[in-house]
This record gives sequence, structure tokens and C-alpha cells, in this order.
Amino acid sequence: MNTPILAIIIPCFNEEDCINSTSLKLIEVLNCLEADNEISKDSFLFYVNDGSNDKTWDLIEKLNIEYNGKIKGIKFSRNFGNQKAILAGLLEASKYNVDCFITIDADLQQDENKIKEFVQKYKNGAKIVAGIRNNRKTDGLFKKITALSFYKLMNLMGVNIKINHSDFRLVSREVVETLKNFKETNLFLRAMFNELGYKNDYVYFDVKPRKYGKTKFSSCSLFSLAISGITSFSLVPLRLVTIIGFVIAMVSFLLGMTAIIDYCVFHNTVSGWATIVVAIGFICGIQILCLGIIAEYIGQLFQEVKSRPRYIIEKEII
Ligand code: UDP
Ligand code: MG
Repeated sequence: MNTPILAIIIPCFNEEDCINSTSLKLIEVLNCLEADNEISKDSFLFYVNDGSNDKTWDLIEKLNIEYNGKIKGIKFSRNFGNQKAILAGLLEASKYNVDCFITIDADLQQDENKIKEFVQKYKNGAKIVAGIRNNRKTDGLFKKITALSFYKLMNLMGVNIKINHSDFRLVSREVVETLKNFKETNLFLRAMFNELGYKNDYVYFDVKPRKYGKTKFSSCSLFSLAISGITSFSLVPLRLVTIIGFVIAMVSFLLGMTAIIDYCVFHNTVSGWATIVVAIGFICGIQILCLGIIAEYIGQLFQEVKSRPRYIIEKEII
């Protein structure tokens, strides 16, 4: 426990520009921690090449030889997405008797000098230490607004997740062993780790600007991650659909009653079709929206029922 074996998991997709400098910096962090007897000398870096189509994998293979196995890795057969790359890293690195795992981005936008703090919190008994961004200075206005709204929405829907949570995180071996029983295809790790109930702690860090290359997330993939996060953790949207349906039905029932009273008591004829057209259009819109929400959940079920492998490993270097 005093000198745990630490594996640093790094997902990468087309990161040829930063692999070498990232490896240098992270190996330095490992060396320092090893010299201070904070972690075991068997600690290592573990790259997950998520279907890169540049030289990323060749560089990882070279580093593996250069550092005599202190840098290991796996290569996916194609791009499976960052969440699956992180999961694969945790599951596959667990073969090496690892005591604790830290996941960090290949561009090192997250502060690698905080790794020591993560390890200390682990030694103090935390099973999961989550990295929380101090701010979103490096994000554009659009990403800032959408990210904040997403976290607020998740909290409103009953998903317990801290604002500005990131995938810079330490988890203990016990957590990874538990994670092996979670077979779902749609992953949203930030919420998943919170659900486990293990003792949590937090480390706050500043995000650095990306030095090399550009972000590997398009607005589309971020949107799909957000939808996956909501639909895999909350049934509130489905319940909302039921409530909206009920409210609309009640309102139309009351409207019907007033029309009958109007006709029987006041002998008024209905005037104007615009109101009817607007009402029909509005209700049609709500119906289609509700169908869309239900379709999202059916889509999730469809993917889960097929239970295809979550990732395919083409190569492994040890
Ligand atoms: N990444 C990945 N697969 C993907 C997209 C991204 O493994 O399909 C990795 C990427 O190489 C990086 C991390 O996930 O190590 C975070 O990506 P990025 O820095 O582009 O995200 P941002 O910091 O812009 O949110
Ligand atoms: Mg980044």
C-alpha cells in the first residue's frame, strides 16, 4: 500500500505531435514519485491507440522498446471513441497487478504535476479521486455554455455529477474489478464512477491550452456523448414525456368542455380556424419531440441488446 503500482492510462487518437513530449513528461513524473518512494518501480504508462491514422502507433512501439516495457500499449482496430479507450486502458492494464490507475489526456492539457496529489489522496483512503477543472478558460464561449448547461441538466435529472468534472481521474484496483461487471456499451464514465458508491475525493487543477494539434472532439461527438450521458443515467426525460402528454390531454379536455358549454348555454359558434391550426401544429411538434426522446432510449436498448464487443484490440505491446 505504501508503494503502489501505478498505471497511467492515456487514450490517443491522432496524437503523433505530442506522444513523445507527453511520454517524456509523464516518465519524469513517474521517476520522481518512484525516487520519493511514493509509488512502486513497476509503475508504467499505458497508451490506448484509438484507431489513429497517423504515426501515433509507430511512435508508441518505438517508445516501448526505448523505455524497455515501461511504456506499454494496445491498438484498437478502428476508432471506438475516447470513453471506450479509457475503459479498455483500465481493463487491459489491470492484468499487470496494478494497484491504482490514473487516466489523463494525451495532450497533457490536464496538469500532470497534480498526479502526486492524486496518489496521496488514494493513500489516504479514497478509492476514486476525480479531477475537477478550476475553470474553462481554454474553452470557447459555445463550449463553456453548453458544458455548463449539460452539468446543470444532469443534476436536475437526478444524476449526481460534479460541475467541471473531467476524465483526469485516479481509480483503485477494487473499482476496476467492480467495473468489469458493468457490461454496457454506451459509456459515460464520469457518471458511472459516481454510481459505484466508493469513497470519493477530488483534486482541482488548471487546464492548459492544447500545445500540439487540435481537439479530437467535434461538436457532433460532444453532443452524442451528452445524449449518451443523459439516456444511460436518467429516466426523467421519459417521465417528462408522460407528464407532458397528460397535461396536454387535460387541457384539450377542458377546451372541449368549454366549447360544449359555449354551444349549449351561450349558443356561440366557433370562430376562426387559426387557433385550431396553431394548436394542432403545437401538439404535433410536442408529439414528434416525445417520439424522438423515446427513440433515443430505444436506440440505446438496441445497442445494448446486441451486446457487441465494446472495442477490438488488434495489437498489444507489453
Ligand atoms: N481521444 C480518443 N478518441 C477519440 C477522441 C479523442 O482517444 O475519438 C483522446 C485524445 O487523443 C485525447 C483525449 O481523448 O487524449 C481528449 O481529447 P481532446 O484533447 O481532443 O479533447 P478536449 O481536450 O478538446 O476536450
Ligand atoms: Mg485536450
